[in-house]
Amino acid sequence: MRYRLLLGWIVAGTAATVGYYLLPRDGVAASMLYNAIGFCSALMIVAGVRRYRPRRPAMWYLFAAGQMSAVIGDLIWSYYVFVLHQEPYPSFADVWYLAAYPPLVLGLLQFVRSRTRSDMETLVDAGMVAAGLGLVFWIFVLQPTATTASASVLEKVISIAYPAADAVLLALLTRLFIGAGARTPSARLLGAGALLLFAADATFSVLSLHSGSDGYELSAGWLLSYVFWGAAALHPSMAAEGPPAPAADAAVSRGSVVLTAVCSLLAPAMLFVPQAGASLTGRFAIATVGIVLCVLAFVRTHGLIRKVQRKTHQLEHLATHDDLTGTANRRHFENTLRRIPLHDSPQVVFLGLTGFKSVNDELGRHVGDEVLGQLAARIRGAAPTPASVARMGGDEFAVLLPGHTDGAADQVAARLAEVMREPVLAGSNELLVGAAIGIGDSDGATGPAEVLRRAEAAMYAAKDTGEPYRRWSPALDDRAGEQARLGAEIRAALDGGQFRVVYQPIVAAPDGRMAAAEALVRWEHPERGPISPAYFIPVAERNGLIVELGAWVLRTACEQMVSWRNDTAAAAPGYLSVNVSARQLARPGFPQTVADILTATGLPPGCLAVEVTETAVFGGGQAVQALHQLRALGVRIALDDFGTGHSSLGLLRTVPVDILKVDKSFVDDIAGAGEHRVIAEALIHVCEGLGLTAVAEGVETAEQADVLYGLGYRLLQGYHFGRPVAAADLDRLRPAESAVTA
Ligand code: C2E
Ligand code: MG
Ligand code: MG
Repeated sequence: MRYRLLLGWIVAGTAATVGYYLLPRDGVAASMLYNAIGFCSALMIVAGVRRYRPRRPAMWYLFAAGQMSAVIGDLIWSYYVFVLHQEPYPSFADVWYLAAYPPLVLGLLQFVRSRTRSDMETLVDAGMVAAGLGLVFWIFVLQPTATTASASVLEKVISIAYPAADAVLLALLTRLFIGAGARTPSARLLGAGALLLFAADATFSVLSLHSGSDGYELSAGWLLSYVFWGAAALHPSMAAEGPPAPAADAAVSRGSVVLTAVCSLLAPAMLFVPQAGASLTGRFAIATVGIVLCVLAFVRTHGLIRKVQRKTHQLEHLATHDDLTGTANRRHFENTLRRIPLHDSPQVVFLGLTGFKSVNDELGRHVGDEVLGQLAARIRGAAPTPASVARMGGDEFAVLLPGHTDGAADQVAARLAEVMREPVLAGSNELLVGAAIGIGDSDGATGPAEVLRRAEAAMYAAKDTGEPYRRWSPALDDRAGEQARLGAEIRAALDGGQFRVVYQPIVAAPDGRMAAAEALVRWEHPERGPISPAYFIPVAERNGLIVELGAWVLRTACEQMVSWRNDTAAAAPGYLSVNVSARQLARPGFPQTVADILTATGLPPGCLAVEVTETAVFGGGQAVQALHQLRALGVRIALDDFGTGHSSLGLLRTVPVDILKVDKSFVDDIAGAGEHRVIAEALIHVCEGLGLTAVAEGVETAEQADVLYGLGYRLLQGYHFGRPVAAADLDRLRPAESAVTA
């Protein structure tokens, strides 16, 4: 056990101290026991150093040397008393006694230096306490000792030397305790040892002035001081280094306030002590210390005020700024906006990052944070006044433009759109994080909050349409309101069974056989009649209901496919294509949902294809992973509306694809000799080269069908072959004649 020696020493030392008083007073035995304790203390200090190997052993050796010096003094004194039978004063014993102080003080000085804080406040506090206590010590000990008539100069010097050494000890102790140096058990034990030594010395000085005490009663103080000193060296924390970290409330720690206040009052209090007020030096000392204390108190208060001001400032900054980007936060932005009168026509530009979420999800938060930092800096750089930029939420920023015309605000928005288009370099990644930008003005606005709301609504509209920026208009609110209503109605429609699935044939050229079918959802609204999926699917995507709606479509379509295959296996479409939206695909559980539906309906996976748009998989991440999982199930992947996205061909390298659905826009003009025909032709070559199945969408005329067939397309879909119809009507659509005329 690591504390065995320590506990043993404390128990033995305390027992020996008690034993000292049990032995006959002034006997040889008592005297030898006294010296033995002192000697053992020095020994324990050396043992502690050996055991714990502190980085700076010198101070401990100084302590040991000090103790040894005192022991030698005592031995010499014993020799005087027991052998020579005389009690001289001063004597050689005093030389050794006094010689004990310099090493003790030097050691303590080193100790204090290495363990205490030395900031301004601590030093001033220590100064105040030392000045106050020093004055008391001066009045009660030093001054009376000095003025007591003594025979010789030597005697006088030696008499003063003891309390003077104690005064230094007192100053060091003050510094140790005020500087929070006495935090470790070892430091506390050492402090206690030094405090006992000081107390016993001081009491002895006072007592011997008035009664000529021989210090027998005080021996316990000195002996226990030895015990503590040795114990300090035996505690493992003796090897701990460095000053303690300043406490958060160091400036106003209650203990130090009370202590410094009490010590400041010591100077005036001394005026009530008759012996102090009587002499000129006494009054002079009180006045001097009083002035010093006042000055220190002033320095202390001044420092405190400065610190409080600094803290207040920091807190204010923390409360109003975003620590990640250093820009203002939403609260600060709203407060600033509120202070601008509406007739100054403030405008707000609101930026919502696009694709930031996937950066965060895929590359981790630290990359996300770096991207945000860089983009915030760009926005500040492009804003007319950097200070007007605020981070409004996770990936949203706003710029406040007081007193801007519409034109000027649009210009700011355009500049912001431009800087946001540049790729962001984060780590080893070059990332494209765009932004949708909305502008809100105060024309006819009910208040500042309305300006911000308009900018935000405009940003969402810009996000939907893909415009670089958009200015708010009343129509936007109508649309937003109507979309919110619609969103709520989708819920009711799901529960009320208002959705249906229709099927559109995908035919094989040239024979016109139905090769596949695409499932398309329909909403028959009880009041508004049919609503286009192109309109309500984005609404369902935004409010999350697409997940439930999509799963319903998928299950319905799969059940239908199974039923076709059971009825007339030969006449059933080869596979069924089901549309899956971006948000559905990005849900981690999506592949499992598909697997569950396949199991539940018993549809072979090869009979199902999922249609996804390029934009749904452009961001990579979870969506692409989901496609791999679907592929692994045996489900086919079709890229819908191919050619309208922004990195169509590049995607084919990174995303698992089986079917390309060439967008209707290329088919529309295919009969002309324009570039669309060239693209359609190039795309069929790509498909052939990569082993993909090509499907041409939106074929409306026989002529288009012929041209497409001529280019090499073998799967065609469009009104020319059949509109989307209810399941029961699908076979009746099958054309009797061949799909193409040529
Ligand atoms: P899409 O997947 O590209 O579907 C093709 C759309 O073009 C369908 O519109 C279809 O009726 C229409 N169409 C087919 N042939 C022709 C033609 O020859 N001429 C013209 N003008 N149009 C033709 P619909 O059913 O209104 O669907 C629009 C979009 O809504 C779909 O585009 C698809 O992206 C989405 N959608 C439809 N049903 C679902 C669904 O169940 N889930 C999801 N997530 N999206 C769906
Ligand atoms: Mg489709
Ligand atoms: Mg399409």
